Amino acid sequence: MVHQAKTVRRLLLKWYGDHKRDLPWRHTQDPYRIWISEVMLQQTRVAAVIPYYERFLALFPDAAALASAPEQKLLAAWAGLGYYSRARNLRKAARAIVELSHFPDDYAALRELPGVGDYTAAALASIAFGRPHAALDGNVARVLGRMLAERGDIKSQAVRNNLRALAGALLDPKQPGEFNQALMELGATVCVPKRPLCGACPVRPYCLARRQGLENQLPAGAGRPSASRRKKHLLVIEKENKILLWQRPADSSRLAGFWELPELESIPGATIHGGVAGFRHTIVNTTYLVQVQRAALRSRPSGFRWLAKGDLEDLPLSTTAKKALARLSRSEPRA
Ligand code: SF4
Repeated sequence: MVHQAKTVRRLLLKWYGDHKRDLPWRHTQDPYRIWISEVMLQQTRVAAVIPYYERFLALFPDAAALASAPEQKLLAAWAGLGYYSRARNLRKAARAIVELSHFPDDYAALRELPGVGDYTAAALASIAFGRPHAALDGNVARVLGRMLAERGDIKSQAVRNNLRALAGALLDPKQPGEFNQALMELGATVCVPKRPLCGACPVRPYCLARRQGLENQLPAGAGRPSASRRKKHLLVIEKENKILLWQRPADSSRLAGFWELPELESIPGATIHGGVAGFRHTIVNTTYLVQVQRAALRSRPSGFRWLAKGDLEDLPLSTTAKKALARLSRSEPRA
């Protein structure tokens, strides 16, 4: 396929020009904005990212604003996107950029920034600065794995190295940013994980998986392990327009600094009232079956705080707490 690289490039870039989605970060050459979009898009769907991206940039329009962002404001702006180390690393990297007095413009310097790995450095170097680096994310790996009819585990280092070599050989040196985005877009919209839309694919004639009828079987190792289930029982305890919450400590392995609703087991003296709401919430490989109830308390237990309901929007609330409060208010009859 490498000797057909020119044709593959041309077909792919033409298809991208005709079919790319109109996304806010495709209207800018500002490396800061492209960087924020790339980090938000890791592990999060495009449709979910768009409102976060716009709100985040309104709050922190440049690296200087992000570098001086207070922790609680930063986490509140990120709340719901998950993987909160990404937000903290963004701020650390913004501080490094402010110290440098310019945005690093090549792969090696970008790679030095906190939280910037191979993929993000290559994506930024190519999209924002036109540097010839191939960016291999999950979408691109799937497309290339199918084009090669790669039967090995797509997550293994040996296969990744193969795919990286192919991505590098196919990369258009004159338009590396467009080429990388074209491959990502193909993976996101046509060469999707289940039932790829090969009939709409511009590189179909060069795809070995398609030619061998294996497009639905490959790549191997792409499926997610099935999630285990756990029950969680949350309480909503209110007093004078305030709500009882606790904050995860700064060294917590998950959601450090985030506010949570109390769990039933942590408040033995609570009197449970009605108003049950339930929902599911999946974190990595665990699906929580969450039950929410109203409750009352005589006195505040240690480790908890009463916080004004009106202040909650500006605080980092965990997604389960947000969902629980929203479901409970929806489940109750209006006055
Ligand atoms: Fe993916 Fe099908 Fe295109 Fe091959 S032909 S790259 S399997 S969409």
